[in-house]
Amino acid sequence: MVDRSCINNQLVESETQIIQTGNNKYDIKYYSYLGNWQLATTLEFIPTQPPGCANGEPCTDSEFKEPGIKPKSVNYSNVFPQGDPCVNQNLLAGTIPVYTKNEFLENYNVDACFNLQTQKWQFVVDNNNVLKPRIIQEICENNIANKNIILADSLDGVSPNYPCKQVVEDINNFYQYGWWQPDRYLFKKLLLGHEELHVESYNASLHTFYDWFGEEYRNLLALFPCERFETTAQAEAYANTIIRDVTYKWSLIAIKADPIFGFWYHPYTDITKEDLEQALHTRMYGNITSWWIEAISNCNN
Ligand SMILES: [Zn+2]
Repeated sequence: MVDRSCINNQLVESETQIIQTGNNKYDIKYYSYLGNWQLATTLEFIPTQPPGCANGEPCTDSEFKEPGIKPKSVNYSNVFPQGDPCVNQNLLAGTIPVYTKNEFLENYNVDACFNLQTQKWQFVVDNNNVLKPRIIQEICENNIANKNIILADSLDGVSPNYPCKQVVEDINNFYQYGWWQPDRYLFKKLLLGHEELHVESYNASLHTFYDWFGEEYRNLLALFPCERFETTAQAEAYANTIIRDVTYKWSLIAIKADPIFGFWYHPYTDITKEDLEQALHTRMYGNITSWWIEAISNCNN
C-alpha cells in the first residue's frame, strides 16, 4: 500500500507493510528508495484492565446485598444539634430519633470490591452490613431529682425502711402514664421499658419501608461499571454518599410514620399523643409489674 509516514521527522510517501512479529507486536516497514524494506517503527499492544478494575479488590461474596437497618439507642450528647429531650422539665424520660443528616447514623465504613461476574462495583458496610440510625434514649435524672422523686433501678433498690404497702401503691400508680409524686418511688426498669417500646416502634416503622429502601440501594449501588471509578477509595466515598442520603431519606419517612414521633406531622387524628403514650405504657406495664407485685405480696410491713 502507499501511505504517508514520518521517518526521521520527514514526511515521506512510500509503500508500507505491517508484519506481526509476536503476540500483539508488529513491525511497520516502508519500501525505501534503495530498493528494499526498511523498518519504520515497531508497535506493541499491552492488554490492560479498564481504569478502576485494576485497583478494585475482587469480591469474595458473589452477590450484592443491601444493608440491613437497626436503630441504636444512644445517650444524649452535645454532638447532636437537636435539643436534649430532658430540657423539657416535665419529662421523666425521653426517646427521640436523631434528625440531623450528619449525625443520624452510627459511624460505619463502606468497603468496595469489584464483582468479576457482573463486572460491577459491589459494596458492603461494616458491622455485618447493618446501618444504625441513632435514637436518643434518656432517663431525665435531674428532672426526677428536682421533683424529689426517689429513683431506684428496680424493686431490689427499694429501701428496707420504706413500707412495702407503699411500694405496691407506687407500682399501681405507675400504671398511669406520666404519674409521679414527691418522696415516692419511680423505677428505671419501668421507665426504660416504656422508652424501649418507642425504639421498637421506630424499628417497625423503618422496616415497613425496607422494601423500597432496599430497592433504591440496589438500583443505585449495583450499577457502576469498573471505569466509573479510578480507585477503590473513590468508589467507597461515592457509595458512602448514596448510603447516607438514601438511609436519611427513608429514616425521616419512618419517623413521620411512627405513631408517636410522627404524631406532630399528622394532627388530623382525634387520638391525642397522651392516648398513644398510655397505650404503649400499658403494654410495657403488665409485662414487668405482674412479677413484681407477686414478689412483694408476702411482705408484712
Ligand atoms: Zn413515651
